[in-house]
Amino acid sequence: MDNLLKHLTNFKFGGSAKKIITAESEIELIATLKDLKFKKAKYYILGGGTNIIANDKGYKGTIVKISASGLKIENQKILCEAGLPLRKLVNAANSAGLSSLETLAGIPGTVGGAIYGNAGAYGREISEFLKKVKIFDGRKIKWVFNKDCKFGYRESVFSAKGGKKPWVILAAEFYLPKGGAQKLAKKSKEIIKIREKRYKPGLRCAGSIFKNVLAKSGKIPAGLLLESIGAKGMRIGGVYVPRQHANLIVNNGRGKAEEAKKLIDILKQRVYRKYGIRLKEEVQYLGF
Ligand SMILES: Cc1cc2nc3c(=O)[nH]c(=O)nc-3n(C[C@H](O)[C@H](O)[C@H](O)COP(=O)(O)OP(=O)(O)OC[C@H]3O[C@@H](n4cnc5c(N)ncnc54)[C@H](O)[C@@H]3O)c2cc1C
Repeated sequence: MDNLLKHLTNFKFGGSAKKIITAESEIELIATLKDLKFKKAKYYILGGGTNIIANDKGYKGTIVKISASGLKIENQKILCEAGLPLRKLVNAANSAGLSSLETLAGIPGTVGGAIYGNAGAYGREISEFLKKVKIFDGRKIKWVFNKDCKFGYRESVFSAKGGKKPWVILAAEFYLPKGGAQKLAKKSKEIIKIREKRYKPGLRCAGSIFKNVLAKSGKIPAGLLLESIGAKGMRIGGVYVPRQHANLIVNNGRGKAEEAKKLIDILKQRVYRKYGIRLKEEVQYLGF
C-alpha cells in the first residue's frame, strides 16, 4: 500500500501518510485513538475526504478514516454513526417519511464530516434537527447537545480553531418532523439533478472553496465577489476556476495542492484589494 492521500480525497491531491487506519466500528475507533494518544502520535481524522486539500508532500502522521456506518430509525428518531455516507442518511430519512434532510441530497461525504462543518444546501443545514452528537474527547465518550455544538454557518464547536479540540464525532441522533416519503424523495431527486449540472460526477474538487460572507445586510455570496474580480477561467498549472462557478477550483488530474493553495491566495488577495473583505476557506487543509 502506498498510503497516498490522493486516493482518499475527492480533490485527488496528496502524498503519502505515514499510516492509514480505517476504523470500521466505534470500538475499533476508540481503541485506535487511545493507542495513538498513548504513543503521543500525530493523527488526522478523515471522513469522506470531500472537503480536503491534502499536501503533496504527504502527512507525517496517522490518518484515521472513520467508516463505522450503523443506522437505526425509531419513529421520528434517527441514530447513525459518523462514517455513514450522508447520502444514505438522506435516503433513509426520505424513505421513512422524515423531513428536513431532503435538501442535503447530493452533498458528498460522511455524516461526521457534515456535522463538523455544519454542511448545508438549499436553505437547510444538517444541525437544524440534530438533537445530540456522541463524541470521544480523548478520554471519555459523551453526548453533546445541539446547543453546546455551537453551530453556525459552516462551523461548529468541532471545527472551532481549525478543529484543534481533540473531539472525534462518533454518532449523531436526529429527531425529524414527519413528511410524505414520495414528496421528499422527489425533492432530493430534483436537487441532485440541478447539482449534477454544477458538479459533474467525478469532478476533482471540494465543492465551494470559500464561505459566503456574513454581513450586516445579509449573506454575500463569495461566488459573486469572485466573479467580479475575474476568477472564472483563472488557472495555475493543473488547477483552474471553471467558467460555470467562480467559487470552485478543479484539479484537471495533473494539478498540485500547492497550485490550488496559490490560486486560493491570489483570489483572496484580489477580493481583499477590491472590497476590503477577507474570504475564509470552507475547504480544510491536511498536512500543511
Ligand atoms: C462536489 C462537491 C459538492 C459539495 N457541496 C457541498 C454543499 O452543497 N454544502 C456543503 O456544506 N458542503 C459541500 N461540499 C463539501 C463537503 O462535501 C462537505 O463539507 C462534507 O460534509 C464533508 O464531509 P467528509 O466526510 O467528506 O469530511 P472530510 O472532507 O473527510 O473532512 C472535513 C473535516 O471534517 C473533519 N471530520 C470528518 N469526520 C469527522 C469526525 N467523525 N469527527 C471529527 N471531525 C471529522 C475532518 O478532520 C476535516 O477537518 C461539497 C463537496 C464536493 C466535492
